Amino acid sequence: MQNKCIINNKEYNFNDGETILEVAQRNNIYIPTLCYLKKTGTPTGKCNICMVELRPSGELVHACLTKVEAGMNIITESDKCVAHRREVLEKLLALGYHDCPTCPIPGDCELQDLVWKYGAKGIDLTKKEKDYVVKYITPFIRWDSSKCVRCGRCIQACFDVQVNNAIRVYEVNGEAKKADRDDKVTSLFDSREYVERLKAEFTEPILPAPDENFCVSCGECVQACPVGALSSSYEWLGPKKWQMKKVQTTCSYCGVGCQLDLYVKDNRIFLVTGANEAPNYGSLCVKGRFGFRFISSDERLKKPLIKKNGQFTEASWDDALDFISKKLTEIKDQFGPDSIGVFTSARITNEENYLVQKFARAVIGTNNVDHCARL
Ligand code: SF4
Ligand code: SF4
Ligand code: SF4
Repeated sequence: MQNKCIINNKEYNFNDGETILEVAQRNNIYIPTLCYLKKTGTPTGKCNICMVELRPSGELVHACLTKVEAGMNIITESDKCVAHRREVLEKLLALGYHDCPTCPIPGDCELQDLVWKYGAKGIDLTKKEKDYVVKYITPFIRWDSSKCVRCGRCIQACFDVQVNNAIRVYEVNGEAKKADRDDKVTSLFDSREYVERLKAEFTEPILPAPDENFCVSCGECVQACPVGALSSSYEWLGPKKWQMKKVQTTCSYCGVGCQLDLYVKDNRIFLVTGANEAPNYGSLCVKGRFGFRFISSDERLKKPLIKKNGQFTEASWDDALDFISKKLTEIKDQFGPDSIGVFTSARITNEENYLVQKFARAVIGTNNVDHCARL
């Protein structure tokens, strides 16, 4: 049985070095995960949800860490796996304060989905003290420590994917609900060290949180977080993800061409995530992910304005273009074409940029053309 294994009583090929999870995912076999972040390629085995059963031994092993061997017989949803997952989920629910109706992300939460799937029982929240603090690390990143399941995905997202190392790891004496970064917890180490520890055995009671001094608000950690611990500030305010229509588009902020998924309701954008396609494969910068509110801003200019007697007054496009043409001609006649410079933008298309430089060179007669993305 060369490079063949059995998953759920069916034979599959595997490549040398592949883990059970990789073979399963390649063949569309569902194994739940909370800590696994495909982009990093470094499974940590932190959450213990992906345990599968080996037959005939009955041993439970991590699907994300265990390399497949020839003849391995794997069951992914045995009674033993399900009981184990339920136990893990109940511990995770008890660790924090999971009040789904008031959470920013119900309906888009991997923990909530698993709790439903495996029938895990939550704790009685009326008997739990709610003494944690929700923080806005930056105007865009909302951090609610009471929802954190200590999966470490955010750390890998920031450190391995964005190479930012902006998440600090805090010791919280095992009590998630008591985690208030300012006065009750101690910074343990930075994410560089944590990622090393994630790979080794690691049991300290910890809590990761972005550091506002280093965070660039790219939102990679928000996208990676499987629960509502890290969420977009906008997600908290707007409709829920499942209530919106998803529309894929290209970011217009620069020439990289990142692919975005816009979440739209009533012709208004409420949320943007990175689409899992080239060139960005889910990653975005702060502008692409959070810079969309201008689109439906009441302050947005919708008509040209011409200053008359010190006051801006609305004008038609014909009047505005005539006015610009007249002024440019006057300047050119008086000071020559090289007294005029033309600046173009990365937010317009290549074709539009081509037309702008053509206008400068052929119509005005100057080579004074520059572009905001040149430097
Ligand atoms: S993180 Fe998930 S499980 Fe926890 S409260 Fe929010 S929606 Fe519910
Ligand atoms: S928003 Fe970006 S920079 Fe800030 S902590 Fe998250 S991944 Fe790191
Ligand atoms: S904040 Fe989210 S991604 Fe980070 S460890 Fe907690 S649950 Fe995981």
